[in-house]
Amino acid sequence: MQAIYDLHSHSSASDGELSPEMLMLRAQEKGVTHLALTDHDCVTGLAEAQSTADKIGLNLINGIEFSCTWNKKTFHIVGLNIDPSNPELLTGTESLHSIRTARAQKISEKLAKQNIPNAYENLLAESSTTMITRSHFADFLLKNNHVTTKQGAFDTYLGQGKPAFVGTEWASLENTLHYIKAAGGVAVLAHPMRYKMTASWMRRFLTAFKAEGGLGIEIITGRNNPDEIRRSLHFAKQFDLYGSVGSDFHSSKNKWVELGRLAPLPINIKPIWRLF
Ligand code: AMP
Ligand code: MN
Ligand code: MN
Ligand code: MN
Repeated sequence: MQAIYDLHSHSSASDGELSPEMLMLRAQEKGVTHLALTDHDCVTGLAEAQSTADKIGLNLINGIEFSCTWNKKTFHIVGLNIDPSNPELLTGTESLHSIRTARAQKISEKLAKQNIPNAYENLLAESSTTMITRSHFADFLLKNNHVTTKQGAFDTYLGQGKPAFVGTEWASLENTLHYIKAAGGVAVLAHPMRYKMTASWMRRFLTAFKAEGGLGIEIITGRNNPDEIRRSLHFAKQFDLYGSVGSDFHSSKNKWVELGRLAPLPINIKPIWRLF
């Protein structure tokens, strides 16, 4: 059977719609043979995902998507093939959990000043996770009719420069790579074209990323066009990085992004899964 890889996805352990079990079932239904669950800053969905994967014969790659700050800019670093019980990794996820909690409280305070009280309390009461992201706030704002679309929540309240935006210092690049490497994983730069960064900043970042032991870059993501693929490939070649493919699936409501619905990795690039 042909292997179909999707190495970036989210469950309700962070801001995904589906429980880890439902995510595994959907992956199999969509023809994925190797799925990485990469929730934001946590590994709490992996045990349930593994038990379902074992039952249905899907290959689960244990993963995480770390939020990382480098030069005041936010990057997402996916760790693949990690040991989720590694103590150093768990030190990292605990630290990010504290950062997220403090930030969510501040976002909530800022929303209260906009006459939208108790957002954080509501989210904690209604979510299946305590790893609260802006996506949760956006859903809350939508559900309570403060905005008419999820994008509107970012445009009006949560995006950079908007009234409920809270600048956040995530994990350093050095620490992020340390957590992933300590857990035996490989570090991959997620969705390189989503940072809207100049090529020269991207080169500076990738130089630092390589120096800390970063090995891969996503070439194929859920929603990219041929030009973005070409530019990502260029960086992969220039920095001798392995290529990864991942949909960044969050929800069945987003019709544009589906598990496993990904272009193949170009043949002139080393696949990251060679390292698993
Ligand atoms: P955070 O890491 O808490 O800043 O939350 C970021 C998450 O919000 C991302 O992982 C996406 O899932 C979601 N997100 C960010 N921007 C948008 C957007 N414009 N529309 C919908 N979801 C978004
Ligand atoms: Mn997300
Ligand atoms: Mn991301
Ligand atoms: Mn993601």
